[in-house]
Amino acid sequence: MSKRTSPPPLRVLVVGGGIGGLCLAQGLRQAGVDVAVFERDASADGRRQGYRLRISPEGERGLRACLPPRLQQLLVATSNERDDSGLAAYDEHLVEQWAPSFEDPRSGSPDKVDAVDRVTLRRILLTGLGDTVRFGRNFQRCGTGADGRVTAYFEDGSTETGDVLVAADGANSRVRAQLRPSDLPEDLGVRTVFSRIPREAALGAGLPEALRDRFSYVIGTDGHHLGLMPMTFRTPPSEAARQWPEAGLVDTGDYYMSVFNVHLADLGLDDAAFFALDGEQLCRLVVDRTSDWHPELRGIFLHAQPEETFAVALRATRPVEPWETGPVVPLGDAAHTMPPSGGVGANTAIRDAEALSSALAAVARGERELAEAVAEYQKAMVEYATEGVELSLRIAEWSIRKAARE
Ligand SMILES: Cc1cc2nc3c(=O)[nH]c(=O)nc-3n(C[C@H](O)[C@H](O)[C@H](O)COP(=O)(O)OP(=O)(O)OC[C@H]3O[C@@H](n4cnc5c(N)ncnc54)[C@H](O)[C@@H]3O)c2cc1C
Repeated sequence: MSKRTSPPPLRVLVVGGGIGGLCLAQGLRQAGVDVAVFERDASADGRRQGYRLRISPEGERGLRACLPPRLQQLLVATSNERDDSGLAAYDEHLVEQWAPSFEDPRSGSPDKVDAVDRVTLRRILLTGLGDTVRFGRNFQRCGTGADGRVTAYFEDGSTETGDVLVAADGANSRVRAQLRPSDLPEDLGVRTVFSRIPREAALGAGLPEALRDRFSYVIGTDGHHLGLMPMTFRTPPSEAARQWPEAGLVDTGDYYMSVFNVHLADLGLDDAAFFALDGEQLCRLVVDRTSDWHPELRGIFLHAQPEETFAVALRATRPVEPWETGPVVPLGDAAHTMPPSGGVGANTAIRDAEALSSALAAVARGERELAEAVAEYQKAMVEYATEGVELSLRIAEWSIRKAARE
């Protein structure tokens, strides 16, 4: 295949300004590639997708590759400060069952990015992008012209044309719905209540010492399971906001993210009834369903913030497949949705962003053909994303297994 000698400038359209799309835009901007992100939300304020994100070694590498040095420093400063002591699993009476520790090549590194707050990460990823990100642009459909260029049509009637359209519009991707209508993530039959509990309130309510600074998992014999994950900012966001005023950080304070999993069969509610519950009702459901759990554990749920409590269904893409080679390229959950149990989804989207930005930068420099670079990206993506989905499903199976029936 011949190389481009004097390439016309490459224009990349990214549909979706979530974790993967913004990380890609940062990487492309650093490489000098013309990129525009179209996000349906009206502003940068977060949506209900959880609070604390575990960052894997691959995720940290991808973030560092895509972000300029000043934002990497901010990422480290606002990451989770904690003792690297792995995970502990308990029964509902708080008797420790299992405490595996995981190998992490970053262990002991003073600037390891172990976990981040999702809203803070989104703010960091937006910093410096300016009008590269266009809010309030809801993608409707796309079409390819005779010249091979792709046009995106938005609900407000506007259009944008580019050489590549990256589908970074998440698990319910409209781009995927148009191009691959039968490619839908599978419902795993588990429903989850995500919530946030301020750290001070949890400690005040008597959260036992052993559960304070590590990822704890409680497996009830009643079919209900709960994960509790600490987020303690290395630098309080108010202080980081002073040092990095350009990032527009929001101070959330330290907290625990709680994740309450229940099988549909044990829930006793159909989806219409479950997803109609508001934050107060979901908090009450968790308190009711844990009524015979250890009192020191139950007490903290009374401090869960109803306005920060929401329900999700666990889903997974099986199998992960490459999309047809062309100007539309998938990235992140649009290509590979996975349950949050493994803490892998965002890391995989970031890994995609790192790989795709380097592939597209090579195309923009005239070093590679677009079709070849995209095919190679997809080949590698399918491999590591399949591993990510399988890992997430293994952890999901463990963490949501029906202990009472085993
Ligand atoms: C509750 C919860 C907790 C999680 N915890 C973790 C964790 O600890 N670690 C981890 O690695 N992963 C975690 N995940 C998974 C992780 O959030 C996703 O894998 C990750 O956000 C995927 O990034 P993305 O960019 O592909 O999609 P998203 O971050 O979902 O971004 C998609 C973006 O596209 C926009 N969009 C959608 N439709 C349109 C449209 N029509 N037009 C324009 N824009 C559109 C959306 O508004 C959104 O901003 C969790 C997920 C959930 C739900």
